[in-house]
Amino acid sequence: MKEITILGSTGSIGTQTLEVIDNLKNWKIKALTVYQNIDLLFEQVKKYQPEFVVVVEQEAAAKLKSKLKNQKTEVLAGKNNLKTAAAEDVDLLLNAIVGFAGLEPSVAAAEAGNDIALANKESLVSGGPLLTQLVKEKGVKLLPVDSEHNAIFQLLKGHKQELDEIILTASGGPFFSYSREELTQVSVEDALNHPNWEMGSKITIDSASLMNKGLEVIEAHWLFDCAYDNIKVLVHPQSIVHSMIRLVDGTVLAEMGPADMKIPIQFCLTYPERNKTAGNNLELDQITALEFFQADTDKFPNLKYAYTAGKAGGTFPAVLNAANEAAVYSFLRGEIPFLAMSRVVASVLDQHQSISDPDLEAILNSDQEARRLAVEVIKEWF
Ligand code: NAD
Ligand code: MG
Repeated sequence: MKEITILGSTGSIGTQTLEVIDNLKNWKIKALTVYQNIDLLFEQVKKYQPEFVVVVEQEAAAKLKSKLKNQKTEVLAGKNNLKTAAAEDVDLLLNAIVGFAGLEPSVAAAEAGNDIALANKESLVSGGPLLTQLVKEKGVKLLPVDSEHNAIFQLLKGHKQELDEIILTASGGPFFSYSREELTQVSVEDALNHPNWEMGSKITIDSASLMNKGLEVIEAHWLFDCAYDNIKVLVHPQSIVHSMIRLVDGTVLAEMGPADMKIPIQFCLTYPERNKTAGNNLELDQITALEFFQADTDKFPNLKYAYTAGKAGGTFPAVLNAANEAAVYSFLRGEIPFLAMSRVVASVLDQHQSISDPDLEAILNSDQEARRLAVEVIKEWF
C-alpha cells in the first residue's frame, strides 16, 4: 500500500481522486483537508479512515470533532494545519485546493520532500520560481494534474531536447462564439454552464473568461521551463486533444482522450506506470470534427494580461492571480458584470509595483495588497 494526503478532498478534483483510489485499491489515506464542507468530509472519514483531517473553518472543525468523537481520526482546525498536513511524510501529496490558499501547502510539501501531484495551478502562477526551485533542490517530483499539462508531460517524454513549442488547447468555454455585445449580458448561471467539463465554480468562471488558459500558460512556463513565446494557445471546442507539442522538425504530437479528469489524476497516482481506468474509452469513429481556432484576445483580454504578467515576472503573476480571484468571487456574488472581471485585473496590474525575485513573504504581501486594490476598484466602479 502507498500513502496519500489529499488537500481539498471535497472538491471536484478531490472527490474524483477518491474515485480513482477506489478503482486502484492500493492507496491508503493519510490525511484529508477541506475548507468547511464537513458533511461530505464526515462520509469520507467513515469510508477511508484517515489518520487525521484538517478543517480550515474553526466552527465547522469543532462540529466535526464532536461528530467524530468515537472515531480514531483526529480533527485539526485552521489554515496553518494545511501546511502540517502537506508536510507529513507520504508517497504522494495531491493538492486540489482552489486558489492562492494552495501555495503555502505546496511549498510545505516540497520542503518536506513529498512528491506532489498538483491540481492547484494558482501555486505555480503565484510562486513559480520559488516552488520550482524548491522542487529541484529537494529532488521531489512535481506531477501535473491539470489535463493540458498532464498531456504535455506525457508528450515530452523522450522529446525535451527537440521541443519547438507547446500548444495548449482551450475549450473556449460557454461564450467562445459570443459577440462583445452579448458578453455584456451574460449571467452568473450562463458562465457556470461549461460545455465540456464539470468543475468547481472558480475554475469554471476562469474558463469562461479565458483566465484559466492565461493561468495555464504561466503554469506551463514553470513546469516545462519553456519561454513564453514558445507557448501557444488554440481554442479547440471539442476538448478531445488535451494539448500538443511541436518538435523542431515540424512534427506535431497530440494527446487525446475523453474529457475525464480521472485519467490525468490516475496517471499521477500510477506514474510512471499506467493502469486500466474505470471510464469509457474515446470512440474515435464518433468524432465528427477536431477544430482549432485562434483565441480572440480583444474579447477575452485576460489571456493577453497573463502573458504580459508572466513575461514581466516578479510579483506580477501573483498579482494577476489575486486580482482575478477577487474579481471572480465578486462576479459570483453578483456584484459585478462578467466583462468587469478583466477590467479589474488590468487596473490592479497597472497600479502594481513589482518586486523581483520575491520570497514567500513578498508573494503573500503582494497577494494581500492586490486583493485590497481589487476590492477598492470594485467599490469605486460599482
Ligand atoms: P472545488 O471548488 O471543487 O474544490 C476546492 C477544494 O478546496 C474543496 O475541497 C474546498 O474545501 C477546498 N478549499 C477551498 N478554499 C480553501 C481554502 N481557502 N483553504 C483550504 N482549502 C480550501 O475546486 P476544483 O474544481 O476541484 O479545483 C481545485 C484546483 O484544481 C483548482 O486550482 C483548479 O484550477 C484545479 N483544476 C481543476 C480541474 C477540475 O476539473 N475541477 C481541472 C484542472 C485543474
Ligand atoms: Mg486545464
